[in-house]
Amino acid sequence: MNRVETKGLVLYNRPYREQDMLVKIFTESYGKRMFFVRHAHDSKLTSVIQPLTASSFIVNLNATGFSFIEDYRESHTFPKVNGDIFSLSYATYLLALADAALQDNVSDPALFAFLSKTLALMEQGLDIEVLTNIFEVQILSRFGVSLNFDECLVCHRVGQPLDFSYKYNGCLCPQHQHQDSHRVHVDPNVIYLLSRFQGIQFTDLETISIKSEMKQKLRTFIDQLYEEYVGIHLKAKKFIDDMAQWGHLLKDNR
Ligand SMILES: [Zn+2]
Repeated sequence: MNRVETKGLVLYNRPYREQDMLVKIFTESYGKRMFFVRHAHDSKLTSVIQPLTASSFIVNLNATGFSFIEDYRESHTFPKVNGDIFSLSYATYLLALADAALQDNVSDPALFAFLSKTLALMEQGLDIEVLTNIFEVQILSRFGVSLNFDECLVCHRVGQPLDFSYKYNGCLCPQHQHQDSHRVHVDPNVIYLLSRFQGIQFTDLETISIKSEMKQKLRTFIDQLYEEYVGIHLKAKKFIDDMAQWGHLLKDNR
């Protein structure tokens, strides 16, 4: 066993046997690990093994099988995100997406930092749908998907209104769009925004503002991309999709 300290974000937990719990934690230094917590409900760890809790953990890591949490130092939650069903469902989806993208025991400090920052910005009250889109676009590479939304794949010109082609797995400018009659016919502003999302800096995030009609177009196109290139169907995403149907009832009454 290897005793170390690492920051970690709880992805989920689930009951195990009568009183114990299995907790999946995305650790900064050692990747995604499954921890066994004995007597989880009356343990000093109870509060820090809840999903969407970030702590500095002192852990015993095993190369195979479960690892163990010995103690923790700092811990923080995201109270605003937790207190709002819309924010919470999007944050839960991001955790599930990171979980799906990560292999066990493989460290990915860059993704850890990106996920932590995205959650912190949600907590700050930045646009959750836009933050989610940016996360979805940037995490594509972890699923082995590399798409270029910056330029036409034939002539490499930039600054053109681009459409997307599944046939060529890339974008076509007006001059080359005839090469795929089944291209998506997506609003070129959607492609422009995806290109921005791919390279966005955290400081830019605070100023980005997108109208709801454009957000809907982004949602539809990113869903298509995920269906075509990633092919995962997460429960947390289904919940968001369902919420779009009934969510306005809640919003109207807030
Ligand atoms: Zn072109």
